Amino acid sequence: MKYKRQREEMVKRQIVARGITDEKVITAMRSVPRHLFVSEALTDQAYGDFPLPIGEQQTISQPYIVAEMTQALQLSKKDRVLEIGTGSGYQAAIIAQIGYRVYTIERIHSLLLKARSLFDRLLYHNIITRYSDGTTGWADESPFDAIIITAGAPSIPETLVSQLAVGGRMVIPVGDQHSQELIKLHREKDGIHKTNLGGCRFVKLIGEQGWRE
Ligand code: SAH
Repeated sequence: MKYKRQREEMVKRQIVARGITDEKVITAMRSVPRHLFVSEALTDQAYGDFPLPIGEQQTISQPYIVAEMTQALQLSKKDRVLEIGTGSGYQAAIIAQIGYRVYTIERIHSLLLKARSLFDRLLYHNIITRYSDGTTGWADESPFDAIIITAGAPSIPETLVSQLAVGGRMVIPVGDQHSQELIKLHREKDGIHKTNLGGCRFVKLIGEQGWRE
């Protein structure tokens, strides 16, 4: 009950008040128990307006940025979505509430195991996980209706763009290690359209088409 109340406050003050309008995103943020995606020591801070550490020097994103990126994906319930950077699993769970299926890739095994067991416990049967370098995507399951990269890239990995369906949307933070711009790509019949959604700050995307370790 306590967490449900904190979640309602979070949605009201951080999500709706700041301009998120997609009802599907708002409903998902209202339902996913964010406090279960952080360590027990941090559950009381789970609904705060900031990112939190999840171990292995990685973070769960601030609630607003999760909502902003999800809204930018313009999801509908038949969409198959690829996520790079499972981390805590929170972003994947939000997408799983809205879309048809989520394919999520993580390069740190311990984080993936934790997220996987939470998906099982919360009955997210539509989240498929994989342990690998996500910068080269998931060719066997492509093309995707939407692709979300939740770590900062030095440039847009071309392989990921090639795994986007016509009509598909992608969001990715691009920049140096300290700050990035959130870029949205829309693949249409006549080519790729890019828009800049503004500044953000993510941990590094490490891999073949990302940063070197
Ligand atoms: N979406 C996550 C955010 C996690 S932070 C959440 O909701 O909690 C970013 C994650 O991206 C980290 O766990 C990091 O290990 C992972 N990551 C970085 N580079 C990666 C790569 N090349 N492939 C897969 N995961 C990667």
